[in-house]
Amino acid sequence: MHYTFYIILGVVAVVVLGLLARLAGTFGPMLRDALLMFRLAKDAPRTAETKTVFGATSIYLPQVLRDFPDFHNNDAIAAVKTLVCEYLAIRYEGIPRFARSIVAEGLLSPIDRQPGHTVKNEIVHQVAMSRYIKTKECATITYQASVGYTLDGEPVEERYAVEYTLSLRDEYGEKQTLVCPQCGGVYTSTSQTVCVYCGAGIVRDTIKSWRFTSITLS
Ligand SMILES: [Zn+2]
Repeated sequence: MHYTFYIILGVVAVVVLGLLARLAGTFGPMLRDALLMFRLAKDAPRTAETKTVFGATSIYLPQVLRDFPDFHNNDAIAAVKTLVCEYLAIRYEGIPRFARSIVAEGLLSPIDRQPGHTVKNEIVHQVAMSRYIKTKECATITYQASVGYTLDGEPVEERYAVEYTLSLRDEYGEKQTLVCPQCGGVYTSTSQTVCVYCGAGIVRDTIKSWRFTSITLS
């Protein structure tokens, strides 16, 4: 009777040990993988998430082109990208002013300057039109731009709203007259594509005639 008890106990012990060994075989590597992944996640550089751009270029660009048939959106987008990169250098690296962007006077003053940092790896991910307004005084396109960069090695992702304006009046408040470079005739409308006097095609350089009037985080 006693022997039977010890034999059963022995068999149970063997079965339990066998099960434990199998469990260790199955779960051991899983546990090791989990620990490894945890360690990798802990050591991985922190990444910031790209901001989504809320734009509707397909709605606003046709409106802009109706008023200004010679507007070049690709040139404007390239100018927005340059502006954002220059803005970051002015804000964080102590660069005194915009050098490559054509900006309105007064765009510099609201910039919250925090010099002494290093901005690197600037990438403007996306640029889209988010608003277009034309009055008698001016036409203003608002662009949204999502940008990623590192600030002293730390990744940053931001979204900016940029206003791009064409003044239709000069500094004295007079209606700005656009004059044909070929015959000197005065254009009657901003949407004119051909001079009514001499038939010359009207080409306004987007980069030279439009200027940035505002850049803010959005
Ligand atoms: Zn002309």
